[in-house]
Amino acid sequence: SDHALDYPASPHTIDWSEHYPAFSGSGKRPEFADIGCGFGGLLVALSPLFPDTLMLGAFPCDPISTPLTTAGMEIRVQVTQYVQDRIAALRTTSADPVQSTSSTTAAAYQNVSVVRANAMKFLPNFFSKHSLSALFFLFPDPHFKARKHKARIISHTLLAEYAYVLRPGGIIYTITDVHELHEWMKTHLEAFPLFESVTEHELRQQGHGPVLDAVYHSTEEGKKVERNDGEKWLACFRRKEASRT
Ligand code: SAM
Repeated sequence: SDHALDYPASPHTIDWSEHYPAFSGSGKRPEFADIGCGFGGLLVALSPLFPDTLMLGAFPCDPISTPLTTAGMEIRVQVTQYVQDRIAALRTTSADPVQSTSSTTAAAYQNVSVVRANAMKFLPNFFSKHSLSALFFLFPDPHFKARKHKARIISHTLLAEYAYVLRPGGIIYTITDVHELHEWMKTHLEAFPLFESVTEHELRQQGHGPVLDAVYHSTEEGKKVERNDGEKWLACFRRKEASRT
């Protein structure tokens, strides 16, 4: 249960340099958060996509001159431990002189990390206001039964938290193989005043193609859907500027 979890009182009390030791001293905080990251496939896919500033021309956030950091958030203890071990192994391997071909690869996977947390309860304890430029909800648990719908990770109340941690222009990516859940997420997000729908085409034109490909194909759940010939439904939303009225 949540009692066993040690939560930061506020984002300012978190020492992110423990998560991203290669950037310690830089004051770097996560830019992206993968909510319910499972076994970490998205983190591993995103890490090399954002190694330097060049990628970022079209991204809806300030120019960034150092690697973009992503935090996975996962509630299951053993799964979180698995992702921690996976990232630690990748960091070591890519720093291994036998494996790496150039010194630049030594910094590989330094920009991804995972925290164990119930994202439905404690997201604002980890991420400060407008600090994120992307939130990912990839193949979230469907909670099919009506009486379980309140357990869904997209709801009116939680959308207010997602709008709080996302900066204006930031993107929410959702994807699922459950059509009813897709409709549910879309309906809630479309109804929420601080989000506007954005098409896959538009995002690809703005340079988000590699991120979208990772959203579709990189996660363990997404791969399972592919093996089973399942369909995938994507829906993306942009965090609007807060209205002044
Ligand atoms: N996104 C991953 C993927 O596509 O492979 C995992 C998908 S899996 C169906 C959903 C994940 O969300 C599970 O690993 C589950 O433990 C996690 N999860 C469910 N509720 C959560 C919560 N409130 N906070 C954090 N993680 C949660």
